[in-house]
Amino acid sequence: MTLDDPDRPPEWEWRPDLDPANAEVPEWVYLVHLDRPIGDRDNPRGQAQHYFGSTEDLEERMGRHRAGRGSPLLRAAAEADDDFHIVRTWPGGRTLERTFHDAQNSPRFCPECSASPRMSLPKVTPRRVRIAARKAAEAAKKAAARATGKTPKPAPPSREPPPSPEAKGRRDAERFLARRDGWTSDQLQASLEYVMRPYREHGARTAGQQASMAAFVDHIQGAIDDLRSGEQAMRPPDEPEPEQQAAVADEHEPPDWLPEEFRQRREPDPHPAEPPEPDPKARAA
Ligand SMILES: [Zn+2]
Repeated sequence: MTLDDPDRPPEWEWRPDLDPANAEVPEWVYLVHLDRPIGDRDNPRGQAQHYFGSTEDLEERMGRHRAGRGSPLLRAAAEADDDFHIVRTWPGGRTLERTFHDAQNSPRFCPECSASPRMSLPKVTPRRVRIAARKAAEAAKKAAARATGKTPKPAPPSREPPPSPEAKGRRDAERFLARRDGWTSDQLQASLEYVMRPYREHGARTAGQQASMAAFVDHIQGAIDDLRSGEQAMRPPDEPEPEQQAAVADEHEPPDWLPEEFRQRREPDPHPAEPPEPDPKARAA
């Protein structure tokens, strides 16, 4: 059976490496398609779904990829348990692989992404043109990074003096109450106890923190007491007191002045891992 045989397996159309007639081909360029794109899921331009490589031994190379070696992109996919597979091969080595990278349009070659995958090979770009194009792309990328990095302009120096520790405490108390609008006095009390617990355990580190904490607690406790008297006035005399409701821990937020290590101790980051970087070598769409 050969590539021209009408009864050839359908995958041979895109995988000439599977054809025993091609057993003597020394090197193959391969295109890997990832079932799920890697990268910024909210930004299609920040995603990569294809990888071009070249090898003398496709099976061995794919084993390496699945073990997380040889390509950061495929390692990220392997670690995320996302499947990937070779969708197409061409006889050729590094030079041909390079032209695919330079073409920078992997989906056009992919039989799973394109209804009519491109048949012609990408044009070989002379080395100096490639270098110039890469430099231009890097310069554009840097310019874009500078442009986006600039957006939050530094605020002009404020004439107002910084708020006092007491004012900070009251401001945080207002925020605390605003976020819990509609809560009962018991819920607020539980929430206050919750956010203050580590602070009470470890104490204030500075006089300023001590003052902020005192103002914070005073302000909230005052609001809770007011709310509680209101609730009691509203309640018909024969109705029993409502059961104390435990506030939901997730909704607690520590005040701004709570030292960082206290916050981290109490609220470990549920997503500490950095998202994987798309492989720049893949140059995929
Ligand atoms: Zn594809």
